Amino acid sequence: MRICPKCDEEFPDTHSRCPVCDVELASSVAEDAPDLVVLCTVLDEAKAYIMRGFLESEGIPCQLENISFHAEPAPVADLMKVRLWTLREDAAQARELLEECENVRLCSACGEEVAARDEVCLHCGERLAES
Ligand SMILES: [Zn+2]
Ligand SMILES: [Zn+2]
Repeated sequence: MRICPKCDEEFPDTHSRCPVCDVELASSVAEDAPDLVVLCTVLDEAKAYIMRGFLESEGIPCQLENISFHAEPAPVADLMKVRLWTLREDAAQARELLEECENVRLCSACGEEVAARDEVCLHCGERLAES
């Protein structure tokens, strides 16, 4: 992925100049940019804050991102989901800590929170390992 330094638009690696601004594209992976990954997605904002507080107390910085999710096709209430982001290097440890200490079960494939009784992830269909 490449990024235009002027308009911040992202382009595939096959592009070398921004067609809009006519400037050289930069690599979107800056040397010192943190490499963030989605640690998990939870439906409960309060819980997400608790999880973040817990991880930060363990020395793992993380960020929350609210995403609203439109249930299709029925115009029922929008669901609010919260994503937790951590540094890639911290993600495995953070996930372990959450599963151990916060009683959170996460899909190993997509990171969605799953119920303890689920055998298959409702979100991506991944077969869940016995915990
Ligand atoms: Zn541009
Ligand atoms: Zn999943």
